[in-house]
Amino acid sequence: MDIFIAPVKFSNVQLLKNLTAELSKRFSCKTNIINLSIDIDNFLSKERGQYFSTQIIAEAVKLTPGFNGKVILLTDVDIYVPVLTFIFGEAQLNGKHSIVSVCRLHEEFYSGESNDSLLLQRTIKEVLHELGHNYGLVHCLNWDCVMHSSPGIEEVDIKGAAFCRSCASRVESFKY
Ligand SMILES: [Zn+2]
Ligand SMILES: [Zn+2]
Repeated sequence: MDIFIAPVKFSNVQLLKNLTAELSKRFSCKTNIINLSIDIDNFLSKERGQYFSTQIIAEAVKLTPGFNGKVILLTDVDIYVPVLTFIFGEAQLNGKHSIVSVCRLHEEFYSGESNDSLLLQRTIKEVLHELGHNYGLVHCLNWDCVMHSSPGIEEVDIKGAAFCRSCASRVESFKY
């Protein structure tokens, strides 16, 4: 039971490295980086200028039938589901696959100023959050918990960076 990170149209090598290191500390299972050949331009909405995340996940499901673990797609592009303006990520509830976009986790997106450590913190939070959904967790009311809903960047920054005790008890191999 491993964690697999699959960069798809993702160029920040340092962030990928730091995220992998962080997940390796926080989970007792192995964290691997894998390469999936997904042409995500097939899922670009020309009207919106964004990519339809549910379709990207469906493509990843097709490519990873034998995988024993959780597969997290990581991308630079802006993603959406039809009912929302944008999303930071999407996951299969009680499933194996999820996607996180760092597009709107960049501080440059809001203030124009780059902040690498903030970007890493936000990315860890959103990856843990989507993993939590994979483990069957729904949104948690506890602001210290990473499963608190975060529709905007303010909520991402306010919420905690780990699972609360109750949520953590349902996430296999989570350490802290
Ligand atoms: Zn959520
Ligand atoms: Zn919680």
